[in-house]
Amino acid sequence: MKRFYFIFLTIFFSCAEQPRIDTEIPQVKMVSTFDRALDKAKQQQLEADFDNTLNPQNLDTWMKHMSSKPHHVGSPWSKQNAEYAADKFKEWGFESGVETFEVLVPFPKVRKLSMVAPNKVDLKLFEPAVKGDQSSEMTKDVLPGYNAFSADGNVTAELVFVNYGLNEDYEELKRMGIDVKGKIVIAKYGRSFRGIKPKIAHENGAIGCIMYSDPKDDGYVVGDVYPDGPYRNEYGIQRGSVLDMPARPGDALTPGYAATKDADRLSIDEASTIMKIPVMPISYADALPLLKAMRGPVVPDSWKGGLPITYHVGPGPTKVNLQLEFDWSLRTAYNPVGKITGSVYPDEWIMRGNHHDGWGHGASDPISGMVSLMEEARAIGELTKTGWRPKRTLIYAGWDAEEPGLLGSTEWVEYNLNDIKEKMVVYINTDGTGVGYLSMGGSHSLEKFVNEVIRDVKDPVHNVSLDSRLRSRMRVRQYKAGALEVNKESERTDLRMYAMGAGSDYTAFLHHAGVPALNMAFGGESGGGAYHSLYDTYEHYKRFSDGNFIYGTTLSRVNGRLVLRLSEADILPFRFVNMVDNIGNFISDNKKLLRKVKSNTELRNSLLENNDFLISQNPKKTYLSPERLDKVPEFNFKPLDDAFKRLTSSAWKYEEALLQYKKGSLSAEKKSEVNAFLRKVDQAFTSEKGLPRREWFRNMLYAPGYYTGYGVKTLPGIREGLEERNWDEVRLYISEVAKALDRASKNINSATRILNES
Ligand SMILES: [Zn+2]
Repeated sequence: MKRFYFIFLTIFFSCAEQPRIDTEIPQVKMVSTFDRALDKAKQQQLEADFDNTLNPQNLDTWMKHMSSKPHHVGSPWSKQNAEYAADKFKEWGFESGVETFEVLVPFPKVRKLSMVAPNKVDLKLFEPAVKGDQSSEMTKDVLPGYNAFSADGNVTAELVFVNYGLNEDYEELKRMGIDVKGKIVIAKYGRSFRGIKPKIAHENGAIGCIMYSDPKDDGYVVGDVYPDGPYRNEYGIQRGSVLDMPARPGDALTPGYAATKDADRLSIDEASTIMKIPVMPISYADALPLLKAMRGPVVPDSWKGGLPITYHVGPGPTKVNLQLEFDWSLRTAYNPVGKITGSVYPDEWIMRGNHHDGWGHGASDPISGMVSLMEEARAIGELTKTGWRPKRTLIYAGWDAEEPGLLGSTEWVEYNLNDIKEKMVVYINTDGTGVGYLSMGGSHSLEKFVNEVIRDVKDPVHNVSLDSRLRSRMRVRQYKAGALEVNKESERTDLRMYAMGAGSDYTAFLHHAGVPALNMAFGGESGGGAYHSLYDTYEHYKRFSDGNFIYGTTLSRVNGRLVLRLSEADILPFRFVNMVDNIGNFISDNKKLLRKVKSNTELRNSLLENNDFLISQNPKKTYLSPERLDKVPEFNFKPLDDAFKRLTSSAWKYEEALLQYKKGSLSAEKKSEVNAFLRKVDQAFTSEKGLPRREWFRNMLYAPGYYTGYGVKTLPGIREGLEERNWDEVRLYISEVAKALDRASKNINSATRILNES
């Protein structure tokens, strides 16, 4: 999973002001899903029965078992866990089995990093056992600290410190007169998906990349370190994939199709998503001697970390030798899948998923989420023992090989793509979960529905709804930030869901198949220093996270309700007024970005004309003027604004029709027709053409950033065109997004027309 850090970032950025586009909005009272699509009393009884079955002790027992040994893809315990989950599904009344794919996952064979100048230091590259944590003593089958999909290589060069290794950091280096060509870079973890750092390093000519967790972001500056506290100690290494997932996740050798046993495969040299240079993660204990010996300019203030040294950029005199060799074998990914066929709409699928593979013992990431999913499945299984059957088909999956690159889920989606497009209603994802606040991301056609659910579920510590607790936090944050009155976001009728980039198994569903997806987790009060290290253990989780599993069980309550209401609803609970409100924000955010790019360009060019960069600089330091920028052209947003107006009007007309709709007044056949159109609305946002340089990503509303990775870019075709000054792309995608909005409007209008016949 990605870390919660990024989630809060995306929440922040998505809280924009209302769109500035005038649209006629009918005054319609909004109705609830209960009012129009469900038999309220019956459903409430079903949910009460579901709740009464949930037992936190089960989560504890299963976590203890499943995280008792390392369980990365290809390990004996990953296969065991898959079979364990599949057996449980069967025991609980699901049809169940383990589905497999053959995926490329490199394991390290040679892993050496040493400092060769100005003095010789062999680095430890090792995580010792920790007192009081038995799991950390069990290191058989543990993969050591490494980055999956690094290139093989043996390189020796001077180091350059590149901050977080993002494009803006290289801009800054350029102005300091520093070139990384032929060098090895050392970058701090954080601010982006880790695979971005070696990708950009390679684009800039570096021949190797080292990444480390700086204590300022992930260590003793944040809080007490393990075992005294939950945060990363000096030896903790963040493992993780550097597959080029923002270009395309999934198996590197089978682009866009399933990695079945007999599939045609690319050779490793042909696989474009494998990193081109050797990459290695290290702890801050190992980073310290490397950084301490560096000289050259002192880093800019914002680059400074938490180690007790003066940070220098280099290059050198620190010189390192990095030697990496991998075993590039195919591994079998085991996906346990359990299914209960729907009694009324068997060809409409509601799917839940959580990965089960981890790095090391992976108690928090991912078993905490997996056991919550299993308890939810068990409770639903219990309901079926009373004679109840879900109206729609429910599918529960545990994904293998998420960590190396979302392999298990992506291959499953590619294998079942036609069925998914035809039948899947919603995919609900979970991953690691902890203590604190519910974070909810996903397709905004589900925002109102999710809000209805979180108003009905209580926080397990404070005696208020999940919704109330989130609002309290928002108000206090606004107050602390100096606001003199509460801001409209905390008082909005429905709380906003964050838009999803990538970082867990919803990616292929949302971005490739166009299926509406959600991602739900608790967090914010757990402390996250064990991420992808040897210390993500049962012991760590029990002491510092949801040790009594009350939040894990609350997560089952939330997702169980989502599943049961989706399953039983007469008319599927997609609602488009919230969706257009969010899309309006995406449009106005992009227009704001355009204004910013324009002003910044004009300002920079005028400073250059005045020689301001030269005159203002300290002559003792190298600080080169930036390059002159080309003029930003005018763009015509009218086609997009017009399409947005039509979509807004469609959304409100659908609300009007829903308000008029009388339960039971449509034939089963007509209801199916309505639901079929509703299901097509989100898929209409996808385009076969895909996004620039990455046609696998087809969603025109959301995508992970090509140069940030996890974090979302909304209307990515337009936004990344503006950010990368690719004006033709901006023009093209204004028109592509407009067309996508019109396709969505059409589906909404068709659903409205049938409802109005009732
Ligand atoms: Zn995970």
